[in-house]
Amino acid sequence: MLQHTPVNSGWIEVITGSMFSGKTEELIRRMRRAEIAKQKIVLFKPSIDERYSTDFVVSHDKRVIEAVSVEDSKQIEILSKAYDVVGIDEAQFFGLELVEVCERLANQGKRVIVSGLDQDFQGKPFEPIPQLLAIAEFITKNLAICMVCGNPANRNQRMTADQSRVVIGGKESYEARCRTCFQPNEFVEKKPKDGYEQVISANA
Ligand SMILES: [Zn+2]
Repeated sequence: MLQHTPVNSGWIEVITGSMFSGKTEELIRRMRRAEIAKQKIVLFKPSIDERYSTDFVVSHDKRVIEAVSVEDSKQIEILSKAYDVVGIDEAQFFGLELVEVCERLANQGKRVIVSGLDQDFQGKPFEPIPQLLAIAEFITKNLAICMVCGNPANRNQRMTADQSRVVIGGKESYEARCRTCFQPNEFVEKKPKDGYEQVISANA
């Protein structure tokens, strides 16, 4: 008989793609379905991500599920003990340590569902998602729609000149862009000598 999911075993699912591709919506949908089946679920998010709420994960379309804010992946492992299904949102903020934590949780028989960005704002692979894709049983890669031309989009266009890798933000700081419209240095190159405020407002 063909099984769609492993029996008597845990596994890892990764939901990835660019911003605005519906990763969190898909994570929430899977967590809800497990909850309806009376499985014990727990959802974690990094405490760094305070865009919407400290106690809930909210997708860009405002769908909500209760979540536990944690500082690092060690806490995820400790707090997952009593649960069958472990969800992790915004996995790119947990770093490479998350890979071994997910592996151990799956080896304990848990279903681990990880959502996170696969590329940073320069279009480079964003750890730990590339490593998680390699060891996961199931992979879903979502595309957004390019906000410039309407093509399928898998890149995160940062709309400010900030060059640090982690800049928390939503629609005010990022756009989904396709391969052609993606310009990682667009705002850096335009930066005038006296600051970039006027460039941002000109493009708002
Ligand atoms: Zn485009």
